[in-house]
Amino acid sequence: DHKISRAIVDWCLARGVSTIRMEKLEGIRRRKTRKRDFGRSLHSWSFYRLQQFIAYKARLAGIRVEWVNPKETSRTCPRCGHCAKENRNGIRFRCRKCGYRGHADAVGAWNISLAISGLAEAA
Ligand SMILES: [Zn+2]
Repeated sequence: DHKISRAIVDWCLARGVSTIRMEKLEGIRRRKTRKRDFGRSLHSWSFYRLQQFIAYKARLAGIRVEWVNPKETSRTCPRCGHCAKENRNGIRFRCRKCGYRGHADAVGAWNISLAISGLAEAA
């Protein structure tokens, strides 16, 4: 995580990026984890930790960090704004209204950059 976060912040510095926006991850709660959810919560936890490293190094480098509300970022069309569960099928995104197609993760990242669901907080 230290190497990855360093590489991301260095990449941003080299390109004059002034703000990094990330999804505010939910669900780091201490509750009983069912066996089949364990992989998933471990996954969330590792992303959460990576985000904390990125945020820390970014701030040290003078880059602003903003946290975006993740609501609907993977279901909303970044081109026309249509939001529907049916827009997404696994890694594939296809807007039911305007027909825009893309990789679901790229669509999510685009929506995060647009902050379609608003900023959760800025620091
Ligand atoms: Zn659309």
